Amino acid sequence: MTTPATPASRLPINLHGLTRDELRALVTSWDFSPVHAARLWNYLYYEAVGALDADSMPDIPARLMQRLQSECTLGILPIAHEAHSSDGFTRKYLLALPDDRRIETVLMRFTGRVTACISSQVGCAMGCVFCATGQMGFARHLTAAEIVAQALHVQRILKVHGERLRNVVLMGMGEPLHNYDAVMRAAEIMRDSNGLALGARRITLSTVGVVPGIMRMANEASPIHLAVSLHAATQKERLALVPAARRWPLDQLIDACRYYIEKLNRRIFFEWTLIEGQNDTEAHAHAVGKLLSGMQAQVNLIPLNPTTGYAGAPGRTDAAKKFQAILATYDLPSTIRQRRGIDIAAGCGQLAASV
Ligand code: SAH
Ligand code: SF4
Repeated sequence: MTTPATPASRLPINLHGLTRDELRALVTSWDFSPVHAARLWNYLYYEAVGALDADSMPDIPARLMQRLQSECTLGILPIAHEAHSSDGFTRKYLLALPDDRRIETVLMRFTGRVTACISSQVGCAMGCVFCATGQMGFARHLTAAEIVAQALHVQRILKVHGERLRNVVLMGMGEPLHNYDAVMRAAEIMRDSNGLALGARRITLSTVGVVPGIMRMANEASPIHLAVSLHAATQKERLALVPAARRWPLDQLIDACRYYIEKLNRRIFFEWTLIEGQNDTEAHAHAVGKLLSGMQAQVNLIPLNPTTGYAGAPGRTDAAKKFQAILATYDLPSTIRQRRGIDIAAGCGQLAASV
């Protein structure tokens, strides 16, 4: 006996998951003018309104609004919880997804700029030992709309103070190159010059080292910046921290990075989480100096942030300074990341979607 086919339930179209061309195609396919599509895009991104209704979008014709309301939805994610760091520089938002899962988005103020740190997945499959997201495991990928919605969420908050979002880093929960298509679609939407208008070099993606994803970015001339989480300069040491190194060994990773740099003539940021005694000694600094020497690279040193599942201690400040000085002898510029939001567990690797 065959089971009768059930008609596939039509899911609403999430407007925040469409590129500007796709939105125009949708609106014109309903016999409305492209002018209305442009106006709608403006409401979605420039004005960053939070609802699909006539009050929020007064210039949209009533018939078009009816159609939008019956067939579409917005990628607005309600706040399930928020926390502000005591120094006032960081705000962490726990945002609720339609399936009731939670993700974290962080607004960080540095001198002269505001950055949104956004998530690409619920949890992460990569299992880095020192990372709270890795410790919680993988639940699911985010859609492009759910990625865009996080940047918009931050933009909406900034707009109240007359400010604008200028930088986005995909360094929240998840491994962006494990969710390549959604991340690249979201980047295209966030870059659109009539929308959030995040200049290409204002979006940075950080990867644990997914080699095929790096190759694809190089081959597709992806306009967004690349950061690679290195943490160790030998395969053996890296494997102890980053289980994904088994699948994509260090030599293959470095080859992919060289290919990317050469193909795009663009620099790569290498992240190095400093863990006392494990990877913060002078010998480690020389090893990474030799490994990256001659590459267009910059090293970002990140003092380890505490997570419940890992006992390591952050490298000491003087160790970080010494590390930096050694890298300089290999002509490798480096920065020590300003710590942000540690008291509200919003620092790198502390995001685990728990209140
Ligand atoms: N999955 C991506 C991006 C998210 S993690 C990646 O791994 O690159 C962003 C950065 O925070 C990575 O460099 C990661 O190694 C680092 N990180 C993770 N846990 C950390 C911790 N407890 N302390 C400091 N940095 C951490
Ligand atoms: Fe995933 Fe990045 Fe955390 Fe590793 S550091 S577990 S890749 S989020």
